[in-house]
Amino acid sequence: MKIVLLGAPGAGKGTQATKIAEQYGIVHISTGDIFRKNLKEGTPVGLKAKAYIDKGQLVPDEVTCEIVAERLKEKDCEKGFMLDGFPRNINQAEMLEKLCKIDAVVNIDVDLDKLMARLTGRRVCASCGESYHVSTFEGKKCPKCGGDVIQRADDTEETVGKRLRVYTEQTAPLIDFYKKRGVLYNVDGMKAIDEVFDEVKGVLDGLKK
Ligand code: ADP
Ligand code: ADP
Ligand code: ZN
Repeated sequence: MKIVLLGAPGAGKGTQATKIAEQYGIVHISTGDIFRKNLKEGTPVGLKAKAYIDKGQLVPDEVTCEIVAERLKEKDCEKGFMLDGFPRNINQAEMLEKLCKIDAVVNIDVDLDKLMARLTGRRVCASCGESYHVSTFEGKKCPKCGGDVIQRADDTEETVGKRLRVYTEQTAPLIDFYKKRGVLYNVDGMKAIDEVFDEVKGVLDGLKK
């Protein structure tokens, strides 16, 4: 199963990805997580990406596509994978088409006006990347791995505003791109997390048949 999770920042891609990985045993590849790991380790990729991430802009395609192409060559991707946060523009989607055939694109559909509260209230585990929200989680340690739960530097009101604009201009056109290819499946991301996951399972179980 080769799938893409599409959706605005805060739509719940990471949250659903964890559940999908547990249920279906497929690898979760988040370009955002890869960039943050590189940032923490101070690698050349991390240094290049930082300026863009801080400004809420997309990291240039040359850097991002290279990372994804290399990651997909690894052995654990043979049985399938799930991309979260990639592709984010048409050029990236065209590059992905050259690498492999995607079985389904799950678009987590949300009301963009509701995302500011989700993102400014988001807390993430600095070790495993799991997402939490201040409204339901007050701890400082990740229940999954014991890592530190922090607020991302780009989850401020100003940067979130910019990221939502980038989404509308560059990423939202991918909905039509994949609709035309007959692989787009919409789920209602405004429902509760478990209800969204029920819809996701409906899509993915249908594919296996
Ligand atoms: P993305 O990976 O798409 O940017 P996340 O999965 O990190 O989004 O979710 C963003 C924030 O919204 C997190 O704080 C998460 O706990 C919360 N969240 C995710 N899904 C839902 C949902 N269906 N309803 C309410 N809050 C959600
Ligand atoms: P969110 O889902 O909350 O928007 P991500 O963790 O997916 O956050 O991405 C964080 C930042 O990393 C983005 O704002 C962007 O700067 C960079 N990034 C992640 N994925 C990509 C990508 N496919 N192309 C370009 N930049 C990316
Ligand atoms: Zn963790």
